[in-house]
Amino acid sequence: MATALITGASQGIGACIAKRLAKDGYNVAINHFPSDSDKANAEKVAEECRSFGVEAELFAANVADYAQCEAMTKAVKERFGSIDALVNNAGITKDGLMVRMSEEQYDAVIAVNQKSVFNMMKLVGAVMMRQRHGHIVSLASVAGLYGNPGQINYSASKAAIIGMTKTVAKELGARNVTVNAVAPGFIKTPMTDALTEEQRNKMLELVAMKRYGNPEEVASVISFLCSEDASYVTGQTIEISGGLMM
Ligand code: NAP
Repeated sequence: MATALITGASQGIGACIAKRLAKDGYNVAINHFPSDSDKANAEKVAEECRSFGVEAELFAANVADYAQCEAMTKAVKERFGSIDALVNNAGITKDGLMVRMSEEQYDAVIAVNQKSVFNMMKLVGAVMMRQRHGHIVSLASVAGLYGNPGQINYSASKAAIIGMTKTVAKELGARNVTVNAVAPGFIKTPMTDALTEEQRNKMLELVAMKRYGNPEEVASVISFLCSEDASYVTGQTIEISGGLMM
């Protein structure tokens, strides 16, 4: 049975992706940040995944840390035998207008959102190259496509993911590994619950469908990109935004 590794899967969109890929028949390796609360949440996600008749196991790692990613990749490969899909989902925000943003805020977001994608693509990409098979999907954002005031760090990290996706698609294509990204718009999760009412209303004015997306609508596109139906799709960034800025 094929195995999918999803980073930052203890809540939000990542948890939803893990459940969707389990429903699709993947065994799931659920990465969570190494803390007791994330572990407890991830265990609930794993239970729901197992209800689809697949195996699900937790792997604690801070994905910004290369050595922890290396240990996790090795452990997932040993536990499941292969890694057929990788979803780079873990991400954080530390918003602030550029003139007020600290170096720490900038560096932290780049480390978790961007460097982690290098760590995981390099390590799992090596496994997939040897397998001559695999699907990698990374979570970019409309902030990386269009920019967003107060998010110079976040938009830089997400724009980088789009470039990294194209580069790695070219490097791994001949080994039958597809590499794509999705760029969600305004999706209802704990990350966006933190926005003010004014910020939310302003965003919705720009959305053709006049509603937020939900995590299931992101997970279904990722499910497609991790399926054989998408076997000739690579290097692409699919926007999931209800029609933003067209
Ligand atoms: P979320 O609810 O905050 O979930 C993010 C997950 O990543 C959390 O479980 C978090 O754990 C984990 N994480 C953070 N840093 C980590 C690290 N260093 N190592 C391992 N795990 C880590 O966010 P979300 O809204 O579901 O977003 C998921 C992804 O979609 C992110 O990449 C985000 O940028 C992207 N996205 C979201 C939206 C949206 O509207 N929500 C739009 C566009 C793109 P902790 O809880 O411990 O931090």
